[in-house]
Amino acid sequence: MRASDLKVLELLDFRAADGVIAFHDQRMLLYDADVLGILRRELVETVGPRVARGLLTRFGYADGYRDAQTLKKLFRWESQEEWCKAGLVLHALEGKALAVKTRLSGLTGNGALEAEIRWENCYETEQHLRHLGPATEPVCWKLAGYVSGYFSACLGDEIYFVETDCCATGHGCCRAVGKRRSDWGADLEPHLEYFKVASVQDEIARLERALRQQRLAVSRQKREAERWKSLAQHLQGPQAPVAKSRAMRDVLELAERVAATDTTVLLGGESGTGKELVARYIHERSRRAKGPFVAINCGALPEPLLESELFGHMRGSFTGAVADKKGLFEEAGRGTLLLDEIAEAPPAIQVKLLRALQEREIRRVGATISVRVDVRVLAASNRDLEQAVARGEFRRDLYYRLNVINIVIPPLRDRREDIISLARLFLERHAAAQGKEIRAISAEALDLLTGYAWPGNVRELQNVIERAVVLGARDRITVADLPPALRERGASPALGDLTGPLSLQELERRAILAALERHHGSRTRTAKALGISLHTLWRKLKVYEGDAQRRP
Ligand SMILES: [Zn+2]
Repeated sequence: MRASDLKVLELLDFRAADGVIAFHDQRMLLYDADVLGILRRELVETVGPRVARGLLTRFGYADGYRDAQTLKKLFRWESQEEWCKAGLVLHALEGKALAVKTRLSGLTGNGALEAEIRWENCYETEQHLRHLGPATEPVCWKLAGYVSGYFSACLGDEIYFVETDCCATGHGCCRAVGKRRSDWGADLEPHLEYFKVASVQDEIARLERALRQQRLAVSRQKREAERWKSLAQHLQGPQAPVAKSRAMRDVLELAERVAATDTTVLLGGESGTGKELVARYIHERSRRAKGPFVAINCGALPEPLLESELFGHMRGSFTGAVADKKGLFEEAGRGTLLLDEIAEAPPAIQVKLLRALQEREIRRVGATISVRVDVRVLAASNRDLEQAVARGEFRRDLYYRLNVINIVIPPLRDRREDIISLARLFLERHAAAQGKEIRAISAEALDLLTGYAWPGNVRELQNVIERAVVLGARDRITVADLPPALRERGASPALGDLTGPLSLQELERRAILAALERHHGSRTRTAKALGISLHTLWRKLKVYEGDAQRRP
C-alpha cells in the first residue's frame, strides 16, 4: 500500500443509521471548523496563549498518534516512508491542511532524521486569523502536534516537529521541521513544554486498552443480540419456555437449529425439567408446525395397550377392539410424535419402534399390510439411555436411531436465573385459572424459591406456586403459603415429615413417590425395588395423578 492510494470514501464508513462515522475502529466526528476556531479563541482568552498552545499541541499529538496506529492496522505499507507520508495524505483527507512539499531523509539507517513539510490551506491559520487576528509566532499548534504524534508512532521514537514559518505570521505557507529528540539538541527546549509527550502516550495506551476491552464487549453483545433476535420473537407465546439463563438459552438455540431439519432428537434431563415443552418448541418452529403434535408416555401403559396406542389396531384383533383404530404414528401424520419416557418402552415395542423409524411405515395390530407414515419422532427420557443400553435394558440400535441429536435440559438448580420468571409466570397462570387476585410474591418468599434445590425441577416449582395460590388469602404469596419442605431448605419434599399422624395410604403414597424419585422416574426399577408389579405401580400412580388433579 502506498500513501497516494488512500481514498477518503474507502477509509471512512458513514453509518448514518447508527449515527456513527467510523475510521476502522476509531469513531470520527465532523465539526464546523469555525466551532473549533471559537473554542481556540475561548482557550486563549481564558487560560492564556501558552496553556492554550500546550492543550492544542497535545490534542494534535494524540490525533496523529491514533491515526498512525489505525493506518498501521488497516494496511500493509510498502515501506515506512509510505506509512509516514500516509499521515500527511490523511490529514488532507480529513480537511486539516494540504502538505504541498515534503522532504524526508534519514528515515532508516543511522543518519539523522531530517523532515521538512510545507502546508497550504491549514485550517488552523484560517481560524486563528478569523477569530484572533494576525500573530507574531506560528500558530499551527495542532498541526505540529499531529505530525509529531504521527511520526513518533511510525518510527517508535520521540519525533518533534517545530513550525518555523506560518501563514498567520505573514508567510506564503506554513513550514515545519521535524527531528528526533536526540538530534534537536538545545533548540527544542523552548518547545518541549508544550508536548509533555510521556503523559500523552500513557493516556493513549490506556485508551487503547480500554477500547480493546470495549470492542470485545460490544462484539460479544452483538453476537448475543443477533443470536437472540430471531429466538426472542418466538419466546413471546404463553407456552414458550422461560430462558433467562445461559444454560436454557443454549438449549433453545440448539432446539431452534434442529427444528429446521426432520431429524430425530433425543431430549434428556431430570424429570420435571420441561422436556415436553422443548419438544413442542421444536415442533412449533419446524415445517411441521401446522401438523399435529402428539405426545405419549411410554411408561404409563401396559405393553398391549401401548402397542395399540402407538400403531393402532384392526377391528377384532383383540377383545374389545370393536372398530379399526388409527395409532399415534398415523394421528401425528405431517406432524411430530413425542415418545416420552422412551426408556420404559418394553422390548417388543422397542423392536417395532425401530422398524417404524427405519422403514417409515407401521402395521396396525392385527393388520396384514403396512401403511406409510410421515412423522417426525422426538424421544425423551429422564434416564441415562446409554447406561440402559449397557445394562441390556434398551436396544442399542434403537438408541443410535433416536440419538441423532441429543438435547439435555438442565435441572432447575442449574438455571436459577429462571426461577423468578417461572414463578411469576405460574402465579399469573394459576391466579387467572382460579380467579384469584394474587399478583405478587413477597421478597422473602422469592428468596426461599431461588435458594431451594428443586429436586422435582420446574414441575415442582409449578406445583408449589399452584398450592400457594390455592392457600393464599392475600394479594401476594408469602412464606406462609409455601410448603414446609421449602421453608426448611433442601429437605426432600417427596417424603416430607413422617412424624405426624399419617394414614397408611398416605405413607404408601409417599414411599412410592420417593422411590420413583430415587429411580429417576423409572417405573420398571421402582416397581422392582418396591416388590410390586409394574401394573400395580401404574394403577397407583394413576390414582395419585387423579388426586393431584382433583386437589385444588
Ligand atoms: Zn501555520
